[in-house]
Amino acid sequence: MGEHVSEQDYYDILGVSRDASEDEIRKAYRKLARKYHPDVNPDNKEESEEKFKEISEAYEVLMDKEKRARYDQYGKEGVFNGGAGGFQWSDFTHYQDIEDIFGDLGGSIFDMFFGGGRRSRRGPQRGSDLRYDISITLRDAFEGMEKTLTLEKMVECPECGGTRSASGSEPETCSKCNGRGQVQAVRNTPFGQFATVMACDACHGTGRIVNDPCSRCRGTGSVRGKKSLKVRIPSGIENGSHIRLAGEGNPSTTGGPPGDLYVVVHVEQDKRFAREGTELLSEETITFPQAALGDEITVETIDGRVKMTVPKGTQHGKILRLKGRGMPDMRTGRRGDQHVRVLIDVPTELTDDQKELIRKLAKTFGNAPKEKKKGFFENLGIGIF
Ligand SMILES: [Zn+2]
Ligand SMILES: [Zn+2]
Repeated sequence: MGEHVSEQDYYDILGVSRDASEDEIRKAYRKLARKYHPDVNPDNKEESEEKFKEISEAYEVLMDKEKRARYDQYGKEGVFNGGAGGFQWSDFTHYQDIEDIFGDLGGSIFDMFFGGGRRSRRGPQRGSDLRYDISITLRDAFEGMEKTLTLEKMVECPECGGTRSASGSEPETCSKCNGRGQVQAVRNTPFGQFATVMACDACHGTGRIVNDPCSRCRGTGSVRGKKSLKVRIPSGIENGSHIRLAGEGNPSTTGGPPGDLYVVVHVEQDKRFAREGTELLSEETITFPQAALGDEITVETIDGRVKMTVPKGTQHGKILRLKGRGMPDMRTGRRGDQHVRVLIDVPTELTDDQKELIRKLAKTFGNAPKEKKKGFFENLGIGIF
């Protein structure tokens, strides 16, 4: 992990055009995912696993508007946290899609990607993972913050303390699976029949049976409840980032370890700044005299106002740079730049005096631009004039 699975182009991998719609990408992925699912290719499992990861990475990027835009512009280096870490399976946000496609078979994919931690086939099962979405402002993302989440989830049963039994007595060995926690079963899937080892349903894969289940939690050891959690959101966090809180998912109902909580951070669009990684873009409107003669103007940045020099002769649309006034990099803390696009305001209402002055000025220009720019049609090579 940490490296890109393949250096091939994501669009090529999925066999879609560069302007493919989300729907087309989803369809292409589903088709390929069925073909390369490792369970469907028992004879070349390794190869299909590689292929599966490859198409999943491509899918993840192309289904995410922001990642796709960065990929289109900068390639793979631009996609995963500035390219420093490469593709991590924790970046993968489309779990649901895989479950939709494969139902239960999706589970083995999670095992593959998450190192088997997500669903264990033997013994007590891990609790399920939870996802919690939060929205923060760009300013919050700039500063970083600590946020308290209150989530409704399964918590340890206060009655039995999570032991699952009313008396607190030791669970007995399951007679159906003789304590192994798993049984052989034949599963019917869209790809045919598979003989698989499944968790024993009598003991839910734990190999043990609680004879006097706690009445409050019905022998599961957990009940629905509320929990408050603090999560630290690092300064410079990118929209769509996941923060994993290990062990804060749902507790296991079968005596296994709890799942994890994934906090998905959405950074709201800011009215004043557009963001591209660590770079911010803003706009400032100036007058024609300021553009022509140059001036010092005050510019709003994410952390206060600063002075910026507009050089004389600044053209409409020119982008000036405020070094180190962008967003911090989440890892290094080093700030990017703010790029200020300068717009020149053409007044729509003028006093008589102003009109007179502009007429005078116009005479000095001879009513034509000083330097004749190459025309639009000349650029196209069309000799109309
Ligand atoms: Zn209980
Ligand atoms: Zn059993």
